[in-house]
Amino acid sequence: MNIHEYQAKQLFRAYDIPVPQGEKVLSADEAVLATKGIAGDAWVVKAQVHAGGRGKVGGVKVAKTTDEVKQFATDMLGKRLVTKQTGEEGLPIESLLIEATSAIKREFYISALVDRASERVMFVSSIAGGMDIETVAEETPEKIVTLIIDPAAGLQPYQARQVAFDLSLQGPQVRALDKIMQGMYRLLLEKDASQIEINPLIETEDGDIMALDAKINFDDNAVALHPDILALRDEGQEDEKENKAERYDLNYITLDGSIGCMVNGAGLAMATMDLVKLKGGAPANFLDVGGGTNTEKVCEAFKLILSDKSVKAVLVNIFGGIVQCDVIAQGILTAVDEVHVSVPVVVRLEGTNAEKGRKLLNESDFSIVAAEDLASAAEQVVALAKEVA
Ligand code: ADP
Ligand code: MG
Repeated sequence: MNIHEYQAKQLFRAYDIPVPQGEKVLSADEAVLATKGIAGDAWVVKAQVHAGGRGKVGGVKVAKTTDEVKQFATDMLGKRLVTKQTGEEGLPIESLLIEATSAIKREFYISALVDRASERVMFVSSIAGGMDIETVAEETPEKIVTLIIDPAAGLQPYQARQVAFDLSLQGPQVRALDKIMQGMYRLLLEKDASQIEINPLIETEDGDIMALDAKINFDDNAVALHPDILALRDEGQEDEKENKAERYDLNYITLDGSIGCMVNGAGLAMATMDLVKLKGGAPANFLDVGGGTNTEKVCEAFKLILSDKSVKAVLVNIFGGIVQCDVIAQGILTAVDEVHVSVPVVVRLEGTNAEKGRKLLNESDFSIVAAEDLASAAEQVVALAKEVA
């Protein structure tokens, strides 16, 4: 689960990580009002969306007057922000963070995350902050330093000092960084975050160290244990189709291709997507309807696939082990009955009650291509999708 920057900064404050003075607002008038309580004669207006890369596309702007604050707030609110991390539809800007401006001397990168390879918490830091860390990793990997934390010992002061020296920090800044890293580490563990990213962490002209940006991801499987974190959820920033899938207990991920896939079993779903790609197509989604499925779930799954306007053809690939093929077939027919289906559907049914399922489909008025095997199913659906497009 993701949260907004202003929420992450509230958590930072609670964990002794310094952040600029700021206030979250919902309107241009509120934005102007907020400047009264923020020291300085310039303010940063920051669009609150669940994505980074805002600065490059006008989602972070420095205002020198309250009139400018009002103008920027008016320009941003109600729009959708498209950044490198959002996909082309972008995310809705429904709130802003009005913040004190900081005089930046240097920008760093630091994050704490769960590293799967070492099965440890890892810190990643870089002297090249403020920019896309993926680009730094690609072009100047020597500028990225990693640090693995022993879970029994925790983050040791000497380790934090080493990171501080790598960032050429001096004197009291070394202690300041130690405090920030200890805060990140405690926050990560206590709230079951999977990643905390500060980009940029800055050294101000006065020599202070401060988090100018804040991003936190939480482990979806652990948020139920943290009602305070769950309360920070903003469904308006999340994929509507994925949330709907969650309510029906379907394993669904939106992708950017044109072939809708309905499969049972995550492994088979991956293999199906691979095959679609191999045959020259691109999947519009990952969808595992699960083992113990029923007609209603299949029906919802089918509607979900069809609600994606980029879907040009649908491939249903069911291996009836636990799930029965006739149940799937009935679900498809119910869905087709409820929503108008204008795209071709290719079905491959195999296993328990496959014969019964195929019969149900064949006897319906709905035209469905029944494929012999998986490879030909993929081939046919790719061809049909191209025809429709
Ligand atoms: P994003 O990562 O989404 O682009 P950031 O919060 O990192 O958003 O802001 C982008 C850039 O804007 C930062 O790298 C920094 O240079 C500048 N910036 C952000 N907040 C402030 C602030 N409070 N004062 C001064 N500059 C800021
Ligand atoms: Mg940033």
